[in-house]
Amino acid sequence: MDATFPYAARLLKFYHASGRQLPWRGEGDPYRIWVSEVMLQQTGVATVKGYYGRFIDKFPTVAELAGADLGMVLKEWQGLGYYRRAENLHRGAKVVHDSLGGCFPETLERWMSLPGVGRSTAAAIMAIGWNQRQAILDGNCKRVLARVMALDDPVNSAQGERLLWQRAYELTPADRPGDYAQAIMDLGATVCTPRAPRCRECPWCLGCRAWETQQVDRYPNRKKPKVRPRYGQVAVLVQNSDGQWLMRRRPRGGLLAGLWEPLSTKRWLLPQLPPDMQKVGEELKHQWQVCGRNVQLLGEVRHTFTHFHLTVWVCLCQYVSGWPLEEEVRWWNPEQSDLPLSTLHAKVFAVHDHQGGANRIPSC
Ligand code: SF4
Repeated sequence: MDATFPYAARLLKFYHASGRQLPWRGEGDPYRIWVSEVMLQQTGVATVKGYYGRFIDKFPTVAELAGADLGMVLKEWQGLGYYRRAENLHRGAKVVHDSLGGCFPETLERWMSLPGVGRSTAAAIMAIGWNQRQAILDGNCKRVLARVMALDDPVNSAQGERLLWQRAYELTPADRPGDYAQAIMDLGATVCTPRAPRCRECPWCLGCRAWETQQVDRYPNRKKPKVRPRYGQVAVLVQNSDGQWLMRRRPRGGLLAGLWEPLSTKRWLLPQLPPDMQKVGEELKHQWQVCGRNVQLLGEVRHTFTHFHLTVWVCLCQYVSGWPLEEEVRWWNPEQSDLPLSTLHAKVFAVHDHQGGANRIPSC
């Protein structure tokens, strides 16, 4: 990198001329910046734009989020995925409201002690909300800096991360660090894109080592991710004579925490095949204490989570008797009430709907 190149000045000029208009831009309320940063953690801007305003309308302050039922929060999050973020945001709001008297943390470490708030999210909130000199390092920034530095260490290695954080901090100016943080995110999203970066229009091209050496395609380097295992599972849509579905709420903590789902078998490692329909009926009784009849296979759904792929075989059966020994189980008529479902389980019910099912489930 060129120590004499005016990185911050060039980037702020670019931001002034070409910064994106986003619903959370210009926001000074740490709560709202926090919400936007958490939504952006694993979801693209185009999708978040559609959710942010609705979420803020529903929960305009940290006190209102803290006082809301988790089910309502998950309902507003439905379709954004990575539901742990919503659960953490809700828990964090409770900490701020109940334990900190409604006052937001004032140091990076205290922000990072809230559930789901990592170093870059904490830094973004403090830089944008309070104009403090804090370096951010989200996925976009990593890519930009790895190219500017021509970093040979993988960006997902400990050494690579250490060097990126160091450079991110060195480049962050004391003046307008909040604008700088948003500007580098914009640079990564609109100019220094993963594929076909527009280097000729880039405010940093004269200080970019990868561009200078015509090796932009080499960066960023990454360690190969581990291969995700493949699992199988059977979801049983148990329907009563009123056309309602038997639903259970997933436990707090863990995958899809607090969301509702039909009764499902334990997951197994593929390529083992799914059990036959008679065995599914037996499993329903054994695992859930529910007897059903006319178990039939409707189809299958594939879904990818962060750490594994899942194939769900979707079965339909008519309820006869029994009730699961769990606290949160209920009958559900989707035409009369809404339940927070994950994208996976909306897809599961869609298999039934596509076959002309009477009770249609709203998709996310
Ligand atoms: S010159 Fe190209 S590779 Fe370098 S930062 Fe700009 S867009 Fe990215």
